[in-house]
Amino acid sequence: MEQTTATSITILGSTGSIGTQTLEVVEHLKGRFQVCGLAARSRIQKLAEQIHQFKPHLTAVFLKEKSEELKGLLEGLRTEVLSGADGVEEVAGDPEADIVVSAMTGAAGLRPILRAIDAGKTVAIANKEPLVTAGNLIMNRARETGAQVLPIDSEHSAIFQCIRHHEGCEVEKITLTASGGPFRETPIEQFPNITPEEALKHPTWNMGKKVTIDSATLMNKGLELIEAKWLFGLSLDQIEVVIHPQSIVHSLVHFVDGSVLAQLGNSDMRLPIQYALTYPRRLPNKFPRLNLTEVGCLNFYEPCEEKFPAISLCRKAVETGGTAPAALNAANEETVNAFLERKIRLDQIMEVNRRVLEGHQSRSQPDLETTLEADEEARREAREIISTF
Ligand code: MG
Repeated sequence: MEQTTATSITILGSTGSIGTQTLEVVEHLKGRFQVCGLAARSRIQKLAEQIHQFKPHLTAVFLKEKSEELKGLLEGLRTEVLSGADGVEEVAGDPEADIVVSAMTGAAGLRPILRAIDAGKTVAIANKEPLVTAGNLIMNRARETGAQVLPIDSEHSAIFQCIRHHEGCEVEKITLTASGGPFRETPIEQFPNITPEEALKHPTWNMGKKVTIDSATLMNKGLELIEAKWLFGLSLDQIEVVIHPQSIVHSLVHFVDGSVLAQLGNSDMRLPIQYALTYPRRLPNKFPRLNLTEVGCLNFYEPCEEKFPAISLCRKAVETGGTAPAALNAANEETVNAFLERKIRLDQIMEVNRRVLEGHQSRSQPDLETTLEADEEARREAREIISTF
């Protein structure tokens, strides 16, 4: 049956990399989606352009002081403008939205996700930090309200696509693939000299700044490991990471009978975005197709622990449990910013993260308040260590 009414979609973080690509997908699938809400942090000009083009009835600007500026750019439009964290949450819980795409950078996306889940919406999650910080809370809350949580992160979308028709008990383990980032072959002695500009040049994916730096340190893969644990209800020893420089195989599921399913595609985030928006259907599009003979060969190998300690640090946070993953994630947000501001070196990101994790007093079974306290504590601790460099 052809769909006759448009699905209403709200995008949190609409001016970022995932947000703009989500709007491209919406534009591509014209008539199927109607944008009812947009929220952005501070890029007012871009947000205003999006509002003019997609005409949402509701919008929010995270930085309060920017909202008046936005209103001045919306003459003749009937879009209501909210502001601050509360405004973003209100947009997330808007009764008119069917699907909420969560693409705000960092743990700041946590409360809006919970708001959308409490409202029973389908929540397509692109930012991994909220799941790392409070995966237990998010998934439990979704079970209670019946809200559907769909992954947009390419690896998790791949696993979701492979796992779809199978029972959880049929899954033996999963393999998350990692491109290895721009410094895969850089000797460890050269790590201290790496500049933010070099680290922001990702070999296969075009993404926002935070996730690009996380890819350079492989922290991205560590965070994805935690994200996968919550999304798919897996234990740590069921999740392995392999380096796959071509970024064509987006991840794999190994079943109990020894059979392995993988999802392949170009490194184009519009594919996992579209899959989340049209799930459980697949719809035709005009995006470039994968050409295997052009790709030639696919390589896989183990990540180098000495150069990239991030993955084992994330495993350690999960083993500690409680608020430890939230603390590690918060420390990492601070250290990535400090690196971009040239306050610390690339190799010091993980050193500070490790020190914060080791000093963290984890609280078990944390509720939202305790989780956010741990997050704040870890940020303070990280900033304090950073100031000594
Ligand atoms: Mg990813």
